Amino acid sequence: MINIPKGTKDVLPAEVYLWHHVEDTARKTAEAFSFKEIRTPVFEHTELFARGVGDTTDIVNKEMYTFLDKGNRSITLRPEGTAGVARAFLGNGLAGGAMPFKAYYLISAFRYERPQAGRLREFHQFGAELYGAAGATADAEIIALADSFLKNLGLKNVSLQINSIGCKTCRAEYHKALKAYFAPHLKEMCADCNARFEKNPMRMIDCKEEGCKKITANAPRMLDYLCDDCKAHFEEVKNLLNAANIKYEINPSIVRGLDYYSRTVFEFTSEAAGAQGTVLGGGRYDGLLEQMGEKAVPAVGFAAGLERLLMVIAAENAPVPEEKGVSCYLAGMDGKSRGQAFVLASELRKAGISAEVDLMERSLKAQFKYADKIGARFVAVIGESELNEGAAEVKDMKNSSSERVKFSELATYLKQKEN
Ligand code: ATP
Ligand code: MG
Repeated sequence: MINIPKGTKDVLPAEVYLWHHVEDTARKTAEAFSFKEIRTPVFEHTELFARGVGDTTDIVNKEMYTFLDKGNRSITLRPEGTAGVARAFLGNGLAGGAMPFKAYYLISAFRYERPQAGRLREFHQFGAELYGAAGATADAEIIALADSFLKNLGLKNVSLQINSIGCKTCRAEYHKALKAYFAPHLKEMCADCNARFEKNPMRMIDCKEEGCKKITANAPRMLDYLCDDCKAHFEEVKNLLNAANIKYEINPSIVRGLDYYSRTVFEFTSEAAGAQGTVLGGGRYDGLLEQMGEKAVPAVGFAAGLERLLMVIAAENAPVPEEKGVSCYLAGMDGKSRGQAFVLASELRKAGISAEVDLMERSLKAQFKYADKIGARFVAVIGESELNEGAAEVKDMKNSSSERVKFSELATYLKQKEN
């Protein structure tokens, strides 16, 4: 037996309805906001992520699935969705098209991480991207989309935290203040933080090491360094969220510290998502498209982890519509009646009714047992007398009543009874 690779999971037929529920909710919510789906390749040139995600991030430094293909090109399985969407937007000339550009994705993503609850090597994301709009309404719109998605899933104990990390101009001042604050503590801080100190001190703020956390707790906060424009932008985002009755907290330790992130950043967290906590993260990244192309295109987006959401759905006992069993199981007894069941099944399917026949050559009793197990709504029995009459004995499995129904009227009968 060959084992499943570490950090990956099978989704079995019995549990796939949970995934369908989350994916359907994602699609419906995105489409209600008039976002269209975008599909990009599972792998891209490594360079795309090195530049698009940023080479000071954990993702690029430690977590990428990178390999040389047979043409000696460096290829990487996508660790996230944003870079691929940005590449597709620029590469397909969409920057010259109608604005804003609004797209969502449902993807698998790959990161070489230490597997644990809510942290896998292959995982799934629902994400959305909005390009072309620099104003605060776009930030609020993206947050509203994320919020609606979680509400449509029926989640109650997920909380929204927002922050502003300013722009290039005001962040320069802030970096100075941070460096002055951290300099005397560097010896007590982890190796990653020491590297961040040089490249991007703001990222030290969200270090998860206990020792570092104690020090960062009293560090200067970006919110106190925002320039007037960034302050006004943040105020407007908050006003719009208030107006839309979307509850939030301000959390100065959310930084998402890449250079091209700016202004609004946010996370939705739940205690049920395990030690990880964050089920959805996003923000504004006005510098990304300019860095990848030539033209500056403002952008804001988010990504949600579907495995973590499924954990939260289970923990909160949020309602999930069960997938229906087969509508009609057709039971035959001998060669002839089984033949008739086979023909009737295909007629029912043509009429849009799901149908199943015995493929295991079981006895009638065993067929009933099986039909019950798979949750068949009706069982249509066809034996010798039924064949002679041209009618099946149809049992309603809900209330055990049964009726003779002509073969030619079976589809109409089932459609009526189903509702
Ligand atoms: P974390 O801090 O938990 O590592 P992250 O900042 O790396 O998260 P993002 O890159 O913002 O995560 O990805 C968005 C979402 O994707 C996360 O909020 C989470 O729900 C999910 N996610 C990220 N990495 C994993 C993983 N390895 N396994 C499962 N879900 C993940
Ligand atoms: Mg991570």
